[in-house]
Order: sequence, then structure tokens, then C-alpha cells
Amino acid sequence: MDDFNSDTDSDYTSYWRDWFISSKGNEYFCEIDEDYLTDRFNLTGLNQEVEHYNHALDLVTDVFDVECDDDMRAQIEKSARHLYGLVHARYIVTTRGLAKMMEKYKKYDFGRCPRVLCNQQPLLPMGQHDVPGYSTVKLYCAKCEDLYNPKSSRHASIDGAYFGTSFHNIMFQVYPAMLPPKSSRRYEPRVFGFKVHAHAALGRWQEEERVRMCKRLRDAGVDTGFEEEEEEEEEMEEDDAAPGEEEGIDDMFEGRLVQV
Ligand SMILES: [Zn+2]
Repeated sequence: MDDFNSDTDSDYTSYWRDWFISSKGNEYFCEIDEDYLTDRFNLTGLNQEVEHYNHALDLVTDVFDVECDDDMRAQIEKSARHLYGLVHARYIVTTRGLAKMMEKYKKYDFGRCPRVLCNQQPLLPMGQHDVPGYSTVKLYCAKCEDLYNPKSSRHASIDGAYFGTSFHNIMFQVYPAMLPPKSSRRYEPRVFGFKVHAHAALGRWQEEERVRMCKRLRDAGVDTGFEEEEEEEEEMEEDDAAPGEEEGIDDMFEGRLVQV
């Protein structure tokens, strides 16, 4: 996949994008192809979103050669970054953009899920809004299907609209094999080794409901998306073997407490 730059972008035409991609804090972005950036069709409507649009586009595509003062230059620079972000949101849902982001995902460029039971599942960046200025980028874990804040403050200040609300879902539609199986493993609160009563009762009820639902879905020929059934059964057997559990949780507590 190293040939991404070489086949469409010649080395001397992507100074600004090279600089942008390699700047600290911009690790979530992939490089947008020159072809994509120079096709005006892909940029439809963005001239109303971005100040100094033409100058910003020139800067992004390395054809900017206007003499201007530092203030103006800084404004154009800011617009160029905003423009790049907005085009990026469109680019990463194209076949080529998805392939580039998939490579980054495989390299854990977006980090790993902080949830212990997700076992270092790689994350994907996503936005909660498609319109810029509403929310910052979040990280999506396909295993627990939850969102997380980026750890670094540099990443946490990136606009979520530069990734959009659909990219992470389209990614798994295009690459279904990369969708991790859902985990049925959940944290069980314990106090000195004993399950916390109310939580254990609720957890057991939820687990029974889940198993029942999975069976119904299987009978109907629907893929449940959960991890291998064998694994689940093993885990359940382990749980069943826990001392005193068949007797009910109250009995377990009483029985054990007497022994102490
Ligand atoms: Zn997770």
C-alpha cells in the first residue's frame, strides 16, 4: 500500500498535504489524492463554507503563489485546513479513501478501545454531526459499539465533521470481514469475590434474554453477530460451576458468611 502516493501524486506536488498529514495532531487524516482535490465536482458547495476558498484550494494543491502579509497568510492557512477537513469527510467514503483509512485502522493509527473487555480493539474516528462547528471527533469501537473521546488534546479539538457520521458504518459495509464479533463478556461487580446481588440478578436475567434471543435469531436463520457460540457456552459453564450459585445468590451469601 506504499504506492498510494506514487501512482497519482508526483512527489513534488504534495508539499502542503505532506506537511499537513505529518503534522502532530493530524494523524487521523489520510492523504487526499490530487485527482480528487482538483476535480471541482467533488468540492461542490464548499466555496460557501470556506473563507478565502480559492486561495485555500491553491494552497492545498500547492499552486498558491500570491504575495500577502502574515495575517492574511495565517487566515488562508486556517481556511486551507478547514477545506482539507471538509473534503476529507467526502473523500474517506470513496473506494480509495476507504482503502486508505482501512490501512490506518489496521495499523491502530486511531488508537485502541480503552474498555478492558474489548481486548485492544482498534478504533475508527467519527463525527456526531456532518455540519462543522458542532462537535469534535470521537472514536468508535465496533466491538462494544460505543464512542470514546480521543486521549490527546490535539486530537480532541479536531472537528467531527471532518470524518462525518457515516464513514465508520460505511467502512464495515464495504469491509464486512473487518467487523469484529460482538462480545458477550461483561464486567461483573464483585465484593471480596462475591457477585453484587442486584447486579448479578439483573445480569443473569439479561444473559438469559440474550441467549433466548440468539436462539430465536439462529432459528430464523439470522446471524447474531456474537462471538462463537462454543466460547459462550464455555463461559456459561464456568459460571454455572461457581460454588453455591445454583442455590440462588442469597443462599450463596449466607452460606459463605457462616463459614467466615
Ligand atoms: Zn470497545
